[in-house]
Parts: sequence; structure tokens; C-alpha cells
Amino acid sequence: MEKYFDQYEVWFVTGAQLLYGGDAVVSVDAHSNEMVKGLNESGKLPVKVVYKGTVNSSKEVTEAFKAANNDSKCIGVITWMHTFSPAKMWIRGLQELRKPLLHFHTQFNKEIPWAEIDMDFMNLNQSAHGDREFGHIVTRMRKNRKVVVGHWQDAQAQAKIAVWMRVCAGWADAQDMRIIRFGDQMNNVAVTDGDKVEAEMRLGYHVDYYPIADLVAFQDKVTDAEIADMIKVYESEYDFADNCKEGGADRKQVVEAARIEIALRRFLESKGAKAFTTNFDDLEGIDQLPGLASQRLMKEGYGFGAEGDWKTAALYRTMWFMGQGMPKGCSFLEDYTLHFDGENSAILQAHMLEICPLIAENKPKLEVHHLGIGGKNRPARLVFTSKEGEGVAATIVDMGNRFRLIVNKVDCIKSKELPKLPVASALWIPQPNLEIGAAAWILAGGTHHTSFSYDLTAEYLEDYADIAGIEIVIIDNDTTIKEFKKELQMNEVYYLLNKALS
Ligand code: MN
Repeated sequence: MEKYFDQYEVWFVTGAQLLYGGDAVVSVDAHSNEMVKGLNESGKLPVKVVYKGTVNSSKEVTEAFKAANNDSKCIGVITWMHTFSPAKMWIRGLQELRKPLLHFHTQFNKEIPWAEIDMDFMNLNQSAHGDREFGHIVTRMRKNRKVVVGHWQDAQAQAKIAVWMRVCAGWADAQDMRIIRFGDQMNNVAVTDGDKVEAEMRLGYHVDYYPIADLVAFQDKVTDAEIADMIKVYESEYDFADNCKEGGADRKQVVEAARIEIALRRFLESKGAKAFTTNFDDLEGIDQLPGLASQRLMKEGYGFGAEGDWKTAALYRTMWFMGQGMPKGCSFLEDYTLHFDGENSAILQAHMLEICPLIAENKPKLEVHHLGIGGKNRPARLVFTSKEGEGVAATIVDMGNRFRLIVNKVDCIKSKELPKLPVASALWIPQPNLEIGAAAWILAGGTHHTSFSYDLTAEYLEDYADIAGIEIVIIDNDTTIKEFKKELQMNEVYYLLNKALS
């Protein structure tokens, strides 16, 4: 399905004990095999499930989880207690486990066979109490995990597992996330800054600085033939403004944009980077702000943050990675300008140039226009309006003692042409409305930059925050300012105490 998911596995470990005799052990194994086969054949799961056997003792649990830690293909572990599995035997293994955990509260048998049910049946259908015993020890050990309840053949339960799998894949991908920054933060900006050491320990983000001169060196090696091929790609994918067509007044600007794109992609590949940031104040030796290049690289999955915003660049990469193969797309965006209109009050989402064409409603148009900021030549960019529909906008901010993931569900509405503002854009109403949504976002300390996706839901980001062990606040149709303020205050206490006690 998705090219990066094929490399991964999720392990399925069944819990039991030896109390019920050899026949039971054989049946537990057979049931587990059938369930894993069924999950894989459902077509609903983006990552392959591998049955790793039934564990009956502390030693077996510990061995299974240590193996999971050490297998780079394994991005998460699903546990299920077929029989009552006394949970002290899970302690050592859970102390070891460093991969994301999903506890599947399911049962081999779907419905109670009222006429036939007997004690033999009961020996093989004990999840109702077995999973509670397991759940207790995980909670007692303060370990984050996702709990999914439902029959293993049920589409809703499978959908929840699929969400978690995509998040595990995003998490695995982020563990060696190299983010390259050309230049620093935009001077004096607070919200896009943060503790890069803590970010590497907590989230896997490795942030490296490179002077723009290093990119210039790559740029100087780009050949005319490579540029000509790149422009052919542009011509096949986009409409061209007249001044960008062959012989047009700004054709040279398209050529320079192609040169920058080729150099930038090559640079990122050579460094093994998954994300990058630019700074319009730091472009010496580059013809124009890399607008078109940033747009096209985002589409390929490179994380992008403007003005040195490495946290948003990284989050974009993760959200793109989780959403691979999904239909509607994602982008870096900025809260650009407000539109007050009663119940339909909305925020125009755009940036100087760098919006991902995955979210475009129609075929983007390649245009070249003057850009006052940065003092460089006229930059090429793709111009489009975006799709309608629900999505999530997310950001990570550094609160000083922790990272906070802020999520706002938003409703994208029909946008309008902006004939004198030639940038790509979206238009959304934050849930529950602009008044409450924007107030909550501001109270939470959220950025003006976001990573946005039509395809992901808040559930993905909730799972992500649980795996990362970071704070999350979600702003949606249920949000009231009164309750939201209380949540922020409670979280403040929770994280202070958590740190003090750990
Ligand atoms: Mn910006």
C-alpha cells in the first residue's frame, strides 16, 4: 500500500498461563494464529501483524519484549490475554519494553453459545477478566498504551488498530529524524524556538545547522540539462502563467527555481535528512526564496518549517508519514489573516509561498511575482486554493518543562481567488468556532505555524502524544473555554508533579 510501511511489522503476543493443561495451550495458539491471519487478511491494516507466540511465564514475556526492542522491523506490540494471565509475570517484560504498546481487549469467540457454554469453553474465553488483570499492571506501572475494545473481526476495532499502526510507523520514522536548518530561527521569534536537546531525547528530532553557502555549492553543480528536465516535470504537472512560459518575461526565474529545487533535494539526500527549514533573511548566493522547491519537497514527504521552525518541520514529516496513501493531503500552514463574519468567521491559511500542493483543490498554477520580504529576486511558487472538509491543525510548543502538542479540529470551507495575493491558501473555521477555537489555541500557547492534515484525525495525534509521553490538548466541537482553562491548569500540576516524582 504505502511504500514506507512495507518495511515494518507489529508483533502480536498472547498472554496465558499453564493452569489449564496442554490441550488449552494448543487451542490458545491455534486461536491466536487464526486471529492474526484474520487481521492481516482484513485488508484494513497498513502494517503486517506477526504472531510471536503465547507467553506463559515472566521469562517468556521478558524474552518476547526484549526481542521486540531489538528488532528494527518491529514498530509496536499488541498484547491480548486469551486466558487469565496473572500479571506479576508481565512486570519484568513491561519494564524492558520500549516499543509502543496496544492492548487489544478482544475474544476469540464472538457471541456466548448460550446452550453449549461449559467450563471447557470458559477455559478458552477468559479475556473479560484476563485483560483486566493485565490492564491493572500496565496502569500500576504508569505505562502509556492504547486500549482497543472489540471483536477482532469487527471493522471499527480494526480501524482503531490501523490508526495506531500508522502512528507507530510515524514514531519509528521520527526516531532518526534529521532536520536541517539553513540559518537560525527568525530573529526574536519565541514560539518556534525550543530545547533541541530535549527534543532529541524525547521525540527523536536531531537538528543540524548548515550555512546556506553549503547549499550554494550544490547549486553550482546543477547542469542545464537537469534544469530542462525539471521544467518538463513542472510543465506536466502545473498550469503556467504567461510570464513563466518559454519566452516569458520571468522564465529565468523558473529556471532558477528549478536549480534550487535540484540542489536542495540533492543536499537533503546527501545528509539523510527528512526535514528542513529556511530563513528568508539568510539566502546569500540563492536567487530567490525557495518557494516552489519547498512546496514540491513537502509533497514528497520532506518536513518543512519556515523561518527556522524545526518543530513544525518535524511534525509535518511525521503527519505526512502517518498519512501515506490517504486521499486528501497535508501541508505546512500559517494563520495568515482573519475573516470576521459571524458564525462563519474564519482564518485564511497561507504563507509567503510554502504551501504543499497535496491539499490543492485543482491543478496548481506556477506563477512568478515580486516578493518584498527577503530582498531577493522574484520567486516562483504554486498558486491554488484548497479542498473543503474537516481536518486537524497541530503544533508542538516548548513549555520550558515539557513539550505540549496542541491540536485543533478545523472545518475547511470554500475559499476564494486572491488575484492580488498570489499564494496558495486554505480557509478554515476552527472548531467549535473562531471565537472559542482561536481563544483556546492562544491560551494553550500555540504557534502561528501549523502542520495540517485532512486525512488524520485527533485520534492519531492522541496516540502519538501517548507514545512520546508528551502533553496533548485537543480543541474541538466539545471545547468550552471554562473547561479548557481548567485542563491547562490541571496539566500544569500533573507535569510538575510527574517531574518531581520521577
Ligand atoms: Mn511564517
